[in-house]
Amino acid sequence: MAADYYETLGINKNASADDIKSAYRKMAKKYHPDIFATATDSQKTQAEKKFKEIQHAYDVLSDPQKKAAYDQYGTEEGPMGAGGFGGFGGFQGFGGGGGGGFDIFSDIFNAFTGGGARSAGPRAGDDIELPLSLTFKEACFGVEKEITYPRVERCDSCKGTGAKGGTAFKTCTKCGGRGRITVSQRTMLGMMQSERVCDMCGGTGKIVLEPCPDCKGKGKMRRQRTIKIKIPAGVDNNQMLTMQNEGNSGGAGAPNGNLIVVFSIQPHPLFKRDGVNLSMELPITVSQAILGASIQIPTLTTPVHLDIPEGTQDGTVIRVRNRGVKHLRSENYGDLFVKLVIDVPRNLNSKQKKQLKELESTLAGGRYDKLDKYNKIVKNL
Ligand SMILES: [Zn+2]
Ligand SMILES: [Zn+2]
Repeated sequence: MAADYYETLGINKNASADDIKSAYRKMAKKYHPDIFATATDSQKTQAEKKFKEIQHAYDVLSDPQKKAAYDQYGTEEGPMGAGGFGGFGGFQGFGGGGGGGFDIFSDIFNAFTGGGARSAGPRAGDDIELPLSLTFKEACFGVEKEITYPRVERCDSCKGTGAKGGTAFKTCTKCGGRGRITVSQRTMLGMMQSERVCDMCGGTGKIVLEPCPDCKGKGKMRRQRTIKIKIPAGVDNNQMLTMQNEGNSGGAGAPNGNLIVVFSIQPHPLFKRDGVNLSMELPITVSQAILGASIQIPTLTTPVHLDIPEGTQDGTVIRVRNRGVKHLRSENYGDLFVKLVIDVPRNLNSKQKKQLKELESTLAGGRYDKLDKYNKIVKNL
């Protein structure tokens, strides 16, 4: 069903994130609607379709979660489609839906209108990547956390205008305050008109007469921001949570970037995690292995009793269902795998050694599976 996103962007599967980005820019520029402003209707429709495909391909391949799902299952939805585990994307963006496209679009717009006005124009603010360490249990059960981080914010004293008091400016003469100007260019398709950000005022429509003393005319300043984030149960190492709009402030009239929280999970002293499953080692005594036992073991929640059958061999793994980690996007739980390790006692006294030898001498004859088999092989060599 899904198209080949790599083919759409003209790259191969080993392309790096930078390769993907630059391929996307190249393709998007080529099919950008502005280019086809004066083309025929059918050319326009085709270009528009292609442009959308390119955007969608980039949307998937630039998102590590979606890309991983796509690489593995051929669709960004993951193995079970939209309802499955697939996209972490499902709970992205507590601050409002969708969105991602704008950042990229305005980025391209700048690249396209290009020239000297690189830093000018309504460019969305930069994303901020923030590492966040969680305890093992926080990751398994979810947690609400207050986080504080520095970001670029709009200057209050000048309301982001960069002009003293927010008023010490005049209307830009080049664009008449529109912030955009129309330019004509000769192209292969004839004269083409396109709109671009005004290079005189950088898209604000205003020229600063006296810079704001608080932000030195930048209109922005670095500040500490504190927000609450709700981390769902089941997050794992290197997974990300995107908080729309919580990144750095954009230029005049531009949206903020996103805050991308990247999790690192602290190890647990007993449990090891593999996706939604947990594993642990349980040491048992020689006699427990021989006679069987019922042993209480801890889990993430309440303890459970583990029945160890008579004659259990070293390394046996017992599966305890539903005692693993909660799936991110469903109410199901993984399992707990308990590996039994026979702990051989040391430093026996002479009495104990004597008793054990006496016992051992009675155990021959059909009681040792592996040993009997081994002896048979060796005998016939
Ligand atoms: Zn200011
Ligand atoms: Zn202007």
